Amino acid sequence: MPYLNITEVESAVTSLATAFPGASDLIELPEPSVEGRACHALRIGTVPAGTNDCVVLIGGVHAREWGSCEILVDLAADLLEAYAAGTGLVYGGTGFTADDVRKILRELDLVVFPLVNPDGRRYSQTVEPMWRKNRNPAQSGGDPERIGVDINRNYDFLFDFETAFDPAAAPRVSSDPGDLVYQGPRPFSEPETRNVRWLLDSCPRTRWFIDVHSYSEALLTVWGDDENQSGEPSQNFLNPAYDHQRGRGADAYGEYFAKSDADDSMVLARQFCAALHGVRGRTYRPMSGYHLYPTCGTSDDYAHARHIVDERKGKILGFTVEWGDTAGGFHPPWAEMERIILDVDAGLVRFCLTALT
Ligand SMILES: [Zn+2]
Repeated sequence: MPYLNITEVESAVTSLATAFPGASDLIELPEPSVEGRACHALRIGTVPAGTNDCVVLIGGVHAREWGSCEILVDLAADLLEAYAAGTGLVYGGTGFTADDVRKILRELDLVVFPLVNPDGRRYSQTVEPMWRKNRNPAQSGGDPERIGVDINRNYDFLFDFETAFDPAAAPRVSSDPGDLVYQGPRPFSEPETRNVRWLLDSCPRTRWFIDVHSYSEALLTVWGDDENQSGEPSQNFLNPAYDHQRGRGADAYGEYFAKSDADDSMVLARQFCAALHGVRGRTYRPMSGYHLYPTCGTSDDYAHARHIVDERKGKILGFTVEWGDTAGGFHPPWAEMERIILDVDAGLVRFCLTALT
């Protein structure tokens, strides 16, 4: 089976909701994509929504990172099918018992949104394989080379990077529509980004958020703008005293990450990597986003920043999966992608079980 096209991703989500009515609900996102496509997520859980703490998983944000949709569709299918059959799950050398599966379905809400950017995926799969952004032409001035916004730079976290960052830092973001990492004209300018915000708003018991990307064989924790530190709470993204100082390593500024949250994030990341390693021996590294490269406006940092900006919001630990390696790139041969799906899904199941402990 080759990679799914956008119609197949959508039909996989809707058919799972139909096939497992007692354990899943179809969620229609409030906004269609820029080109007018309806978007759906799947809630997995056997008790009414809002009863349990929630894990939100999204994928298909960057158009060319094709396998992210399949990773999430298969995770949903595996859990629902195993629960219905009363069986466990086996991913190579990593296994989970039927009790593990029941625990996830009964004690956790899983919200799975596999295709955030359908317009971009379609363009990548039919026209330009390396396309990354959405397909919004609003800022292009009619130039097809300047179409699209990078959805994972469009969240409200240090969006004004020219003020936030040290001029000598080089965060991977741009205010030029011609660039691959164009942030858009303002935070949440894109319907695809607003859909993700809506999911977090409408699932107030969300405590964990995972955005599935490729590639680097890593599980990233917050933060992306600078190195983490747990000693100086006032040194944080909200404090204008530190404008023009963020984004460089081994200097005075570090982004504050409360020690208990840093520790909890690292435990979850290590468990993810350990279960993944057990499948067939691939080694993924747990690390903060900054250590991949400095960024702003990304989903995982936004998810964690929400409770700091507004204390009425629940605390969310944010993560980004970077599946696959340089050899396979964004489009590994399908046989290899199937192995990567097993790797990552084993990690995600273990992540959910660790979250419950
Ligand atoms: Zn990506």
